[in-house]
Amino acid sequence: MTAISLANAAYLVAALLFILSLAGLSKHETARNGVAFGIAGMTIALAATFILVVDDDPGIGLVLLLVAMLIGAVIGLWRAKIVEMTEMPELIALLHSFVGLAAVLVGWNGYLQHTDDRGLTGEAATLLDIHHAEVFIGVFIGAVTFTGSIVAYLKLSAKMKSAPLMLPGKNWLNLGAIALFVVLTIWFVISPALWLLILVTIVALALGWHLVASIGGGDMPVVVSMLNSYSGWAAAASGFLLGNDLLIITGALVGSSGAYLSYIMCKAMNRSFISVIAGGFGIEAGPAEDTDYGEHREITAEGVAELLADAKSVVITPGYGMAVAQAQYPVADLTAKLRERGVEVRFGIHPVAGRLPGHMNVLLAEAKVPYDIVLEMDEINDDFADTDVVLVIGANDTVNPAATEDPGSPIAGMPVLRVWEAKNVIVFKRSMAVGYAGVQNPLFFRENSQMLFGDAKERVEDIIKAL
Ligand code: NDP
Repeated sequence: MTAISLANAAYLVAALLFILSLAGLSKHETARNGVAFGIAGMTIALAATFILVVDDDPGIGLVLLLVAMLIGAVIGLWRAKIVEMTEMPELIALLHSFVGLAAVLVGWNGYLQHTDDRGLTGEAATLLDIHHAEVFIGVFIGAVTFTGSIVAYLKLSAKMKSAPLMLPGKNWLNLGAIALFVVLTIWFVISPALWLLILVTIVALALGWHLVASIGGGDMPVVVSMLNSYSGWAAAASGFLLGNDLLIITGALVGSSGAYLSYIMCKAMNRSFISVIAGGFGIEAGPAEDTDYGEHREITAEGVAELLADAKSVVITPGYGMAVAQAQYPVADLTAKLRERGVEVRFGIHPVAGRLPGHMNVLLAEAKVPYDIVLEMDEINDDFADTDVVLVIGANDTVNPAATEDPGSPIAGMPVLRVWEAKNVIVFKRSMAVGYAGVQNPLFFRENSQMLFGDAKERVEDIIKAL
């Protein structure tokens, strides 16, 4: 068996393992196996690449490969070890930008390698045209992904304001850039001049930046999964250029699963998929709100313990603040204690609670909260009216009644957990500050709501003591 056919067979096995990995990751119970399949697939893929390089160029090529693998592994292990769970989305955004940059470099390399192939005729000329189209499209998708992901990183890490950028005629700027890309692609296939490649790189870098900068805070979860999808297509484009089947399959898997995730998240958030992928197409900025909602009431940890002791049913709706405070462990203890006393405790999880899809599920699983009491928003929303106490632990946008009641709100139409229908609502947070979308929350001023100020972890521990 030659090295190439051995590597191709290994690539096929790796591709199957990646598909099994995605299937495993779709459910809590099988997620661990999913990760294991992914690691196995990637190990086989790396081994196959290694074999190919040894066969092709055992000298400098091998040295370069080993150095690249070593640098990548050291940085990857170091970042994975130190990253906080709350920083995961920004890390993912940054990783997407690397995929985009790699696709741009592969595209440029593909062009520079073939500049001497002029004067070809027949089938060879057609193949060269296809090659040029691949270069151009790969560079375009890669550059959009690169700058888009950098803006997402800056917004998620609060290094840039999360409010949408509202340039005049922003939709026309985006449409114009896409139209220009189509025209330039045709031009480049006919006459592959260097300046065209430079121009499309600049246009795509600007488009990626503008697309993501134009999308507001509340829609960022969709943007992250959309960039995940773009990074997949960028990798697939590189796969075509490099003639690497595994990269094509993996890129297509990431691209299509990312697109599907974006679609599911748009449905969950009641947002138009087309509007979000087109950089907030058709969305106008809402008026700055300045409503006076009246006074809020405060409660102590002891007061909450009393309410809980008398309650029959309790629902906990966690949000980003639970992740910041790392309150999942005391929350799990509190849950166990209340269940021992015969109180029915359940969790209500909003699809975009926290800063990445499934964020709350991961934290609760980490703290060993039983899966069967962790319910999705749609499964629990009708039960709030029959609930004695709701504990809103570090959640804000995901429990904001303005989304359903105020058509002028920037989060209008987004489905939320209807916690305000319960008899008592306790909101755990450190101040009256707004949530990620920057919108005031009228829940805090409702008659059945009380605020428990302070770090969520400390306050939950206080309640356990008082119980
Ligand atoms: P929010 O981000 O709306 O609010 C979190 C709240 O937690 C804040 O109001 C903050 O208030 C409080 N908080 C922060 N630290 C602590 C602490 N140590 N102890 C107690 N409270 C704390 O959270 P949600 O989960 O409700 O909503 C998620 C938002 O993030 C949505 O707008 C969503 O669109 C967006 N998003 C989601 C992503 C995803 O994939 N899930 C990705 C990107 C964005 P205070 O400062 O007063 O303590």
